[in-house]
Amino acid sequence: MKVLITGGAGFIGSHLAEAYLEQGDSVCIIDNLSTGSMENIEHLKKRPGFKYIIDTIMNESLMNKLVDAADVIFHLAAAVGVRLIVEKPVKTIETNIRGTELILKLASKARKTVMISSTSEVYGKHNGHRFSENDDLVLGPTFKARWSYAASKIVDESLALAYWKETRLPVIIIRLFNTVGPRQTGRYGMVIPRFIHQALTGEPITVYGDGKQTRTFTHVKDAIWAMMRLVERQEAVGEIFNIGGDGEISIETLAQLIKEVLNSPSEIVHIPYEQAYEHGFEDMMRRSPDITKIQNLIGYNPRFTLHDIITDVAEYQRHRVLLDYSSLSRHEALQI
Ligand code: UDP
Repeated sequence: MKVLITGGAGFIGSHLAEAYLEQGDSVCIIDNLSTGSMENIEHLKKRPGFKYIIDTIMNESLMNKLVDAADVIFHLAAAVGVRLIVEKPVKTIETNIRGTELILKLASKARKTVMISSTSEVYGKHNGHRFSENDDLVLGPTFKARWSYAASKIVDESLALAYWKETRLPVIIIRLFNTVGPRQTGRYGMVIPRFIHQALTGEPITVYGDGKQTRTFTHVKDAIWAMMRLVERQEAVGEIFNIGGDGEISIETLAQLIKEVLNSPSEIVHIPYEQAYEHGFEDMMRRSPDITKIQNLIGYNPRFTLHDIITDVAEYQRHRVLLDYSSLSRHEALQI
């Protein structure tokens, strides 16, 4: 099979590319390296069947050729990370809406299956229960950047479903819940890589707000497994699926757990939201997926625990620091 992955040098895309190459498929990725990196795909460059293109997905003539040559398209190119979204709202909205619009148009012309990656952010301000695909989506005001990001993803989903309804384009929508693993960077705000970096370097672990907000984390390998199974299923077409883990933890407890597992001397500090993001920033106090739908269709059950996630991310960060600063001792390297 010929797989096209937009955003393929990103954290999730590079894992997906690797998994398809491992099962003997050929993979073409396109990435503009805005949040992805060459480092993520370095180990794939020499693999037979792998092709990478550094360009924007807005290059229509190029995308036309790539879509034509593919059997299936995973559209992962998007602005990601709450920090990036708050700091670059124009780029976020434009990239997410225009990029998806173009991919759907080209896929429709070529009649190719497309998986559109959406996010648990679309559930917005619901608190108090596990989110299921049929729930109403309740967002805050548009002057808060976070909700505009959710709105941009809702437009993506709606457009994909409209293509399915009107033209029978085979689309599958996934809503990813806090996907974590090696190669994810904390630069755009993601909590686990940030806490692990802080724990390994002995810096304070920065819990935002009171730390009572909860999340359900998903190992990237579980997410990849689910994505690969979903595109094989005819019944998944025209549907939305939550992909997430099965445990729920508060951010405060997460900080303690990471400190404990990594045996770190870091102190845990609390930072007000307005200092961490911007004045008026709204967090989601609870976010956890109902995964019944995907369980019923493909037998999805998360195989990796939060402990696995922490040890895998920590191993990646240690290895990376040692590679970057191989001339220094491990202790010195971790101080950087
Ligand atoms: N968070 C935190 N400290 C950090 C980064 C994030 O306490 O250094 C919190 C953030 O406010 C949120 C949770 O961790 O409540 C998850 O944040 P992340 O950006 O990873 O994902 P989100 O679920 O917000 O998209």
